[in-house]
Amino acid sequence: MARTIELADGVYRIATDNYRLNTGLILGLEKALVIDTGAGPRQATEIYDEVRRITRLPLIVVNTHAHFERFMGNDVFHAMGAEEIWAHPRTARAIEKYGEAQRLYVETLEPEMAHHSGPGTDIVVPDRLIASDHIEGVTFTPIDLGSRTATLMYFGAAHTDGDVLVGVEDVLFTGSVVEEGVDPAFSDAYPERWVETLRAVTELQRYRIYVPGNGEPVDRDYVVRMADTIEQAVHSIRSSALDANAEATTAAMFKLSFSPGATRILLDRLTKLDALSTDDPDDDQEINPVTSGFTGPITLGQPGS
Ligand SMILES: [Zn+2]
Repeated sequence: MARTIELADGVYRIATDNYRLNTGLILGLEKALVIDTGAGPRQATEIYDEVRRITRLPLIVVNTHAHFERFMGNDVFHAMGAEEIWAHPRTARAIEKYGEAQRLYVETLEPEMAHHSGPGTDIVVPDRLIASDHIEGVTFTPIDLGSRTATLMYFGAAHTDGDVLVGVEDVLFTGSVVEEGVDPAFSDAYPERWVETLRAVTELQRYRIYVPGNGEPVDRDYVVRMADTIEQAVHSIRSSALDANAEATTAAMFKLSFSPGATRILLDRLTKLDALSTDDPDDDQEINPVTSGFTGPITLGQPGS
């Protein structure tokens, strides 16, 4: 069942059980913005019904990144009349190219989506792209909701190469750039850039409430600690010159702040990124994820990731 809290006047966090997903809802006078749509028609309908319990306003959607629980509900919202679906250009491209491949992740909880059978099961690609500046990286895209503006922000690579954050008043919806109650998901991440991105986010002094992609809202101190923790984990791995195949690596991993599983994924990801010439996806907007390896296994829909 959806659980909703009002974080500020007309600003809501809607939590649904599957994937511990947080959806955001921001009301203007003329339109409402929905942040992330769920993993398929079941979850999307639950979210949509909750949105409609709160408002009858025309809807705009944003997908924070190209992981299945963020965009596989788009078709339901599209069918219900959502006018625009926003995303970072790399996220839109990843959904277009690899969205179908991610159906395998939702077999248990969204079987209709997994098998592309029945209404609301198409992959709907975002049709509005946020500003993308690959020199500075940081961009701000205002969305006018009528007497209120929500700002779609890109601060650089982090959890993926196309994470969008959404700010309104003193509330910041962070997508999975901030996570609560679970370790950060490093499979498709840019760990060193993620630290920089979190630091840039905390330098914006205006935000008081940070809504993570999963779990409970947190404060600025939590985000600072998350940056420190990732930085320390990366530093530990780098400074110990771990051999990914060595027996001692496993023991060393237990000294890090994350679970052994998350640490192993972080180690594998750093190794993969090191094999490339750069870990900065902003260096080349036209990079091909398949050949470059920049986009990780979750986005690509690779089983066992
Ligand atoms: Zn994700």
